[in-house]
Amino acid sequence: MPTARPAEPADLHYRVEPSDLHAHLFHVVLTLAHPAAGQEVSLPVWIPGSYLIREFAKNLQQLKARQGRRAVPLTQLDKHRWRVDCRPGRPLELRYAVCACDPSVRSAWLDAARGFFNGTSLCLRVHGQEAQRHTLEIASTDATAHWSVATGLDALATDERGFGLYGAADYDELVDCPVELGTFWVGHFDACAIPHRLVVAGATPSFDGQRLLDDTRKICEAAIRFWHGAAGKAPHASFLFLLHAVDDGCGGLEHRNSTALVCGRRNLPRQQQEAKAGENYTTLLGLISHEYFHTWNVKRLRPAEFSSYDYSRENYTDLLWFFEGFTSYYDDLLLRRAGLIDDAAYLKCLAKTINQVLQTPGRAVQSVAQASFDAWVKYYRPDANTANATISYYTKGALVALCLDLTLRREGHATLDDVMRALWTRCQQGPMTEADLHAALHACAGRPFDAELQQWVHGTAELPLTDLLAAHGVDLKAETPQLAQRLGLRVAQDHGLRIQTVLRGGAAEKSGMAAGDEWLGVEARGQGWRVRKLDDVAFYAGTETALTAWVARDGRLLRLALELPARGQAGSARKKARHGTATPAQPDTISLTPSDRNALRRWLD
Ligand SMILES: [Zn+2]
Repeated sequence: MPTARPAEPADLHYRVEPSDLHAHLFHVVLTLAHPAAGQEVSLPVWIPGSYLIREFAKNLQQLKARQGRRAVPLTQLDKHRWRVDCRPGRPLELRYAVCACDPSVRSAWLDAARGFFNGTSLCLRVHGQEAQRHTLEIASTDATAHWSVATGLDALATDERGFGLYGAADYDELVDCPVELGTFWVGHFDACAIPHRLVVAGATPSFDGQRLLDDTRKICEAAIRFWHGAAGKAPHASFLFLLHAVDDGCGGLEHRNSTALVCGRRNLPRQQQEAKAGENYTTLLGLISHEYFHTWNVKRLRPAEFSSYDYSRENYTDLLWFFEGFTSYYDDLLLRRAGLIDDAAYLKCLAKTINQVLQTPGRAVQSVAQASFDAWVKYYRPDANTANATISYYTKGALVALCLDLTLRREGHATLDDVMRALWTRCQQGPMTEADLHAALHACAGRPFDAELQQWVHGTAELPLTDLLAAHGVDLKAETPQLAQRLGLRVAQDHGLRIQTVLRGGAAEKSGMAAGDEWLGVEARGQGWRVRKLDDVAFYAGTETALTAWVARDGRLLRLALELPARGQAGSARKKARHGTATPAQPDTISLTPSDRNALRRWLD
């Protein structure tokens, strides 16, 4: 159990005041009891869990320093660091404001309705003192008289609404506990005797809070039992879900004893809704399951490179396929094990993941290990070429987990669950390397898995999904692809038909279409037609496969000969690999159907 912490400001103390709501400004006062000579401070450039340089200092303004009555000169050293030319050892006060206008879970938000922040956006890091105790005071103001506060930080001296003093053992803990402010819905439940709190901001009055509490509890219990069995002890003493419901959005960020989530209001359960979870609600439950699983897999068991975070630059690892991919494999599987979805709904989720991988030609270009390492410039900075150049370590990583699990189960000595628990013990809930995974697999299965990991993780060959699924009672069947797949295109159709991505090796690429083109019309059998959606192309083309497409590019109109592949033929996958060797013909749209219910149950139960 954590030792009681003194209910007074620490030597490093932040006072955060959400007073300037309409200007979206948090006002922050950082007091250092014992600054060094030439004390350096900085704001992180990234937030752990989201692998992109975000340069949070771009939102920091009006930084000033004082010692007593004396203004202290500051020198900005680079985009996120400052040197304070203070007298060492005497109390130093830094004042600044942070503009909070990011509605995502990765930064900070403040307006008249709600506040939210991560410490990485608001709390300057005091170099050399990161390991010390930090305190955070959240000040109530007239503007927030009806608001409450929710955070996973340790409450030291707070009022009934949660305003007041919070403590953290060090800077890492301080910035790993996001804070929600406002008038939100709160519910509580215990899962395996651990207290959990669920906070929902932005819900409509028809929101069914009790149902979300009940279902979230089932997910948490399934996850705790997964890692520790019926009697084991989870690593967290309590847990907080911060869920923000918005018009449109979906995402989450994992933390040590909390998670910040965003979902669409339509994803929330509504009162008097049918008992079976619809697709929207299943998506939300999958997100909750995913982020909660991270409490073990990436927050504790984590890449050796994340033993201690470097907040000043990219932190590279080639293991995101394990930490994000395996978490993605288990998020839906635990919904099924918790009884929240049935076999058919589970297979639908899995088919969606498989289709996403099959419709990404970049899987033949980068391995998931390379994609992990490159996350900072590829996955997190998507552009028109991303699908051709890389593969998601979430989706393909999940399929690597699936292939390992089904191989282990077929051989009959162990399951991937056993391997995950073996890793947890072997790595003592801490940093791991790929060598640890090799060792855990070998120990559980009684044979090495080097060849499989080499091929599936470090290579680009197709995964043996069809055979492995068949051995567990599931048929993988090729389906007639949608027109976009037949053409090898990704499009936006809100304001006319705009080409976003031309997939490698597809019909659209052969025709000379390019990302950014506006598709204006199509000619079929000598007649020309205006098109605004892909459905229009299908409608006017009929069964004709030799078409002419009219596109606008850079102010010019272009006529492009377009050979539409026959129905049932994929656009992007019927290709020759770069060096002339043919890749196996792979459908790019599949469905999954049970062929042996008992075999399927043995896997899913
Ligand atoms: Zn994740």
